[in-house]
Amino acid sequence: MKYISTRGDQSPKHFCDILLEGLAPDGGLYLPEHYPQVDNVALSRLRGIYQNQGYADLAFEVLSLYIDDIPAADLKALCRKTYTTEVFGTPEIVPLRALENGIWLEALSNGPTLAFKDMAMQLLGNLFEYELARRGEELNILGATSGDTGSAAEYAMRGKKGVRVFMTSPQGRMSPFQQAQMFSLMDDNIFNIAVDGVFDDCQDMVKAVSNDLDFKRRYKIGTVNSINWARLLAQVVYYFAGYFQATKDNTQKVSFTVPSGNFGNVCAGHVARMMGLPIARLVVATNENDVLDEFFKTGVYRVRASADTHETSSPSMDISKASNFERFVFDLLGRDGARIKSLFGDALGRVGFFDLEAHPAFSEVARRYGFDSGKSTHVDRLATIKDTWARHGMMIDTHTADGVKVARDHAQAGVPMIVLETALPIKFAETIVEAIGREPDRPAKFLGIEALPKRVVTMPADVQAIKTFIAGHCA
Ligand SMILES: *Cc1c(COP(=O)(O)O)cnc(C)c1O
Repeated sequence: MKYISTRGDQSPKHFCDILLEGLAPDGGLYLPEHYPQVDNVALSRLRGIYQNQGYADLAFEVLSLYIDDIPAADLKALCRKTYTTEVFGTPEIVPLRALENGIWLEALSNGPTLAFKDMAMQLLGNLFEYELARRGEELNILGATSGDTGSAAEYAMRGKKGVRVFMTSPQGRMSPFQQAQMFSLMDDNIFNIAVDGVFDDCQDMVKAVSNDLDFKRRYKIGTVNSINWARLLAQVVYYFAGYFQATKDNTQKVSFTVPSGNFGNVCAGHVARMMGLPIARLVVATNENDVLDEFFKTGVYRVRASADTHETSSPSMDISKASNFERFVFDLLGRDGARIKSLFGDALGRVGFFDLEAHPAFSEVARRYGFDSGKSTHVDRLATIKDTWARHGMMIDTHTADGVKVARDHAQAGVPMIVLETALPIKFAETIVEAIGREPDRPAKFLGIEALPKRVVTMPADVQAIKTFIAGHCA
């Protein structure tokens, strides 16, 4: 399998080349040249593998369809090393739990940092270590986080050979639990940098360093952000696992509702559907930052200024633009790279929006691609957390609550609706207390983490300061 850019550069690349790269050189995102098809026989085989051999072997089978430059035995070993009961808590890895009326929750948040990002990032850590060793190279991952991404990256890369992580975060803006999760890591290859500023300042510093091509090459700077194809690919696997648990045979369809921010998670669902997984609908759930809901309802994709981005109680969905969305629009518009370049490279930069309502393809969004959308607000979130606790004795986090609210609005009789659980409530305790008047339960391994010693440096929002810090720690 070869990979191409969404902006027209057709020079095909192998999986391991794009694994360590971020954006394509033309500014686009990588996608496979085509989606491998899983027919009825193949789907039954995968169902059997998940049921009899488990999630790791299912992951190996799905990944194998897209990766031909890692020997099969090695890839299988990497999957088995990643998806263990020990790390993810249950033999199913992503078990389903029933809510009411055919609505299910798929648990994706039992990994080391209690958010679904571990599902992909844990694999990425092992893939990076493997590929860097094979090449005899090193990589310094530089990132900006407001919470979930940074901790997932650090827990995936800690102790890995050949990799260092430099993670910036806005000082004092993360929840105490999130700060404790990250800053209590004592591994030599993990560097926490608290920046005197807001998240956008962190992101601007990271961009400035990455745009200094000399520095970038000299210090082997890389990223693990959500546009990385390997992360998306790892996420495709749990759509298959969710489908197999909710159905008895391949004649049945299911729908998924996905709490969305940068469109990475639901884009993996799109890929699964393009491969032939029987998905009826993919419902995109947003919070007050409804860039995506607006697009799916009107055809207008209008990015927000960061000043117009609401700070909400489901903060990991607070986005001004959805960085993975370009992948879906590429497929929607018949994989026309020139068109994508003019929309994403040009129109968005110039006027901040584009409008596909009049485009003949827009009617395919629902019909052919099965997309639908909805939005949830703080009041909805509180009501949904409260109701789910009262009716099912189940505590859900604020992002998952956005999903459950929207799923309830979109459920259809006879079609199981699977909501992806994107984090555990303990990460967002304040809103849980507001909703139901009690603290969420805390997994035993996180008891008392706020009191652990912290390893973090503070720094002004200054590009030279972070460059000096990186250079000083790469010797
Ligand atoms: C990252 C994140 C999301 C958004 O996922 P995308 O892939 O960016 O759409 C939703 N919920 C939680 C808890 C997250 O950490």
